Amino acid sequence: MSDVFQFMKLSRNPGDKIDASVRKIEFKEIYQPLHAVDAADQAGRCLSCGNPYCEWQCPVHNYIPNWLKLVEEGRLFEAAELSHQTNSLPEICGRVCPQDRLCEGACTLDQGGFGAVSIGSIEKYITDEAFKAGWRPDMSKVVWTDKTVGVIGAGPAGLACADVLARNGVKPVVYDRYEEIGGLLTFGIPEFKLEKEVIRRRREIMEGMGVRFVLNTEVGKDISIDKLLKQHDSVFMGMGAYKYMKGGFQGEDSPGVLEALPYLVNNVRQNLGTLPKGEVPVSMRGKRVMVLGGGDTAMDCNRTAIRQGAKRVICAYRRDEANMPGSKREVANAREEGVQFLWNRQPIAIEPMIGGTLAVKLAETRLGPPDAKGRRNAEVAPDSEEIIECDHVIIAFGFQAEAAGWFEAQGIHTAGNGRTLVQAGGKHPYQTDNPKIFAGGDMVRGADLVVRAVFEGRQAAEGILGYFDCV
Ligand code: FAD
Ligand code: SF4
Repeated sequence: MSDVFQFMKLSRNPGDKIDASVRKIEFKEIYQPLHAVDAADQAGRCLSCGNPYCEWQCPVHNYIPNWLKLVEEGRLFEAAELSHQTNSLPEICGRVCPQDRLCEGACTLDQGGFGAVSIGSIEKYITDEAFKAGWRPDMSKVVWTDKTVGVIGAGPAGLACADVLARNGVKPVVYDRYEEIGGLLTFGIPEFKLEKEVIRRRREIMEGMGVRFVLNTEVGKDISIDKLLKQHDSVFMGMGAYKYMKGGFQGEDSPGVLEALPYLVNNVRQNLGTLPKGEVPVSMRGKRVMVLGGGDTAMDCNRTAIRQGAKRVICAYRRDEANMPGSKREVANAREEGVQFLWNRQPIAIEPMIGGTLAVKLAETRLGPPDAKGRRNAEVAPDSEEIIECDHVIIAFGFQAEAAGWFEAQGIHTAGNGRTLVQAGGKHPYQTDNPKIFAGGDMVRGADLVVRAVFEGRQAAEGILGYFDCV
């Protein structure tokens, strides 16, 4: 039995973090796994407070206090079973969720100043250790139907949809244009947050559950949507949001200015050894780099450039630290690794200079009153310009969803900002205006979080199952 005062006697423990001097030269996860005894001790800090705010703040509504109890009691396989009832990718969410804004930010202990239970690290621990010990999703009671679903996109939304369909006896066939599954988990989020081995293992598990992956296949190019609709009883689209958002200032297309995602993908492929023939490896070794933006993508670019051996990395963002969109944890990690931050700075222009360097003109900003959504807009302060010389600028202003070429012919509609329109609730949640086609994840929400894409993929699978009952 745990001590009811364990939360005071033991402090929060998310796992040891590799020292910045070591981690900034390698592409490996920076948090060490919890040992069984530490996971049990940490789980024992949970107050079982009766009104689990952590569950409500978790977008998939994980049964957090219940699996913490099982971990405390050493019942690993039961914890893994329970954790998979609500989350298709728990070991991945445990690694990449911004827990400070979600489950852990709502933990009663955090509110009381005692330090939240390290929920994310324990979620990762459960699945990692259960897999190592031989646990696999129990498919023994699944009765396979003759229904199949074509899933477009092997990102978190597509994987979560396929997981729920397979558990309900519907065969998912997942198509992706890339050579590996994962979407942005593989070709976006760097290894220091999520090692690629974790995604490879998830692929093996899902193939073992009966999910088929058809990779290097772009729907609309290598295979038509009409063919997919003929081959399958329904189609789920989890195609993400990839339209690069520009800053709209002078010189942003200059040589030496890079878009964030191609830069990150190039780096992942260098590390995986899968860089396509003819694509030049990009490296920041010895360079002075400026990253523009304040979200997760910007932090990943900062820390990738540091690991590639950049001479200096400055990150400039137009709001202050308190109002930035990225995870506080990742900003702290970036700072420890040597990234310098310039808050309240807006780029005005980039000018190429003789010798191939870039002069980045920045102006200071002040935060104005909150807008309709409660966000404070940055307003440029007069006569506050400064120029910083760099070798490379990486632009990370985010991504937008956009309609695919076939949407119109299939009767699928999008909002003005490119997001695919779906039914919010009702009998078939996440159904598009074409009854046979469902959608979820970033293409519906706009660029967001892994765990929300997982939630929507799961909900859409429920929508598809409901649709099958009606046709
Ligand atoms: P995606 O992950 O984008 O997957 C879409 C898939 O669809 C891709 O594999 C794509 O190849 C495929 N596809 C698209 N069109 C076609 C087609 N026509 N035919 C075949 N395949 C197609 N979120 C977090 O929670 N934590 C983080 O730390 C975090 N870091 C991030 C870092 C970066 C650099 C980026 C860019 C995003 C980050 N995110 C993070 C956001 C998160 O990765 C996304 O919200 C999430 O991956 C969205 O999942 P998805 O399945 O909707 O789309
Ligand atoms: Fe927390 Fe994310 Fe896990 Fe939910 S899925 S418990 S928000 S780490």
